[in-house]
Amino acid sequence: MRLLKERIKKDGQVLGQDVLKVDNFLNHQVDPDLMAAMGEEFQRLFKDKKITKILTVESSGIAPAVFVGLAFHVPVVFARKHKSLTLQDNMYSATVYSYTKKVNNHISISKKFLNADDRVLVIDDFLANGQAVEGLLSIIEEAGAQLEGVGIVIEKTFQKGRELLDQRGIQVESLARIAAFEDGQVVFLDENK
Ligand code: 5GP
Repeated sequence: MRLLKERIKKDGQVLGQDVLKVDNFLNHQVDPDLMAAMGEEFQRLFKDKKITKILTVESSGIAPAVFVGLAFHVPVVFARKHKSLTLQDNMYSATVYSYTKKVNNHISISKKFLNADDRVLVIDDFLANGQAVEGLLSIIEEAGAQLEGVGIVIEKTFQKGRELLDQRGIQVESLARIAAFEDGQVVFLDENK
């Protein structure tokens, strides 16, 4: 998505070897016009699926996910993160290793908001090693719901998340695919699209 890639080039900051900071439009300050355009783009990419629910993880997934929900006119549910979790009967839960914070988070979703009739589109801000998405997939499985696809705002193709999801035959659509960081600059997989 050209608009997003231009914004990454303009405002993204490369931190260390493999982290991109985008707090100017996605992870802290949020650009609603860009989010709305991304919502429309995900709707176009998954228009053939009968989506009944959008699933994401707090907090950075919420902004893009809400605009996808708006485009599909379906509810958006975000998994909540807890440091420790006493198992509760009324929640689905999973453990997720946080790539950026280097800690294990427990994520959970109330059974009230996900059930076996749901056809789910997972949305997240970044795909790195795939841990966050895998956590959501295990919750979807526990609920007996159907996964329709995964929509990612920014994919780092040099980390192993994409491969994990491809191996499972999941439709993954990313709006910007980063091939590498070179000298502090972002290199996209398809520079010209
Ligand atoms: P994964 O679970 O795929 O390893 O990492 C995905 C999660 O880690 C995303 O939800 C995102 O919050 C965070 N993350 C991973 N890589 C980056 C990055 O380069 N920049 C930012 N801002 N967050 C990242």
